[in-house]
Amino acid sequence: MADRNIVLHVDDVHKSFGGLRALSDVNLEVESGKVHAIIGPNGAGKSTLLNVCIGRLKPTHGKVVFDGQTLTSHAPHEINQMGVSRVFQTPEIFPDLTLIENVMIPAFARRDGAFKLNAIRALAGEREVREEAEFILKDIGLSARRHHEAGSLSRGDKRRLELAMCLIQKPKLLLLDEPTAGMARHDTNRTIELLQRIKARGMTKVIIEHDMHVVFSLADRISVLAQGRIIAEGSPDEVRGNPKVKEAYLGEAEA
Ligand code: ADP
Ligand code: MG
Repeated sequence: MADRNIVLHVDDVHKSFGGLRALSDVNLEVESGKVHAIIGPNGAGKSTLLNVCIGRLKPTHGKVVFDGQTLTSHAPHEINQMGVSRVFQTPEIFPDLTLIENVMIPAFARRDGAFKLNAIRALAGEREVREEAEFILKDIGLSARRHHEAGSLSRGDKRRLELAMCLIQKPKLLLLDEPTAGMARHDTNRTIELLQRIKARGMTKVIIEHDMHVVFSLADRISVLAQGRIIAEGSPDEVRGNPKVKEAYLGEAEA
């Protein structure tokens, strides 16, 4: 216990939307360099929890601390500056820009603060950033289309592009909301393989996932969320055998 290096603490987080309690009493400890998965049925509060961690939603109660800093008292762009990046459930890309431009922009955002392109600094660092973006696009398997408009990509490829946009920021903490949702099996497997390669680089990751195949391929530790509460936590083997988890998934197609 003593030698676990916890970098992310979710501390007694509650979130209500009007009368709806989306999160109640959520506690989480994420160890440095590990992949921590959060699973649970639709509507369990998984995306809400992620949005609280990245500052898009303020918790009704409780706090989130990363690397000694209280994220919940900061704005999303400040949290990004602290080394926290995220992949949303719905890809947020620039459809009219090329893939390479899409990947370059977040590099400048991390460097310059708020999400705006500072033209002078952009020019000063452009070659280096372009090379980095080319490298990442190759790594992610989208290199051949780097000069295409991002809007022309399939949904699965847009999600991988968004992952590339995170990786160029070299985050300390990467949060992924269902990174393989809407992907065909082939693309899912490519994404798992990619995430396994990233795992080797020591970045801490929180992955929200519905697909059990993805979770058991990647996670070091799993927390199970149901109706806004953590109902189980443990290693993949412990969670797989937990009857409460099976019950929470009853009626779900992918149980
Ligand atoms: P999950 O990602 O696990 O499917 P969500 O976090 O998206 O679940 O949603 C949890 C609950 O909170 C759901 O009942 C959802 O309808 C509700 N909810 C999510 N976001 C909002 C919001 N912005 N306003 C009101 N209710 C919301
Ligand atoms: Mg969700």
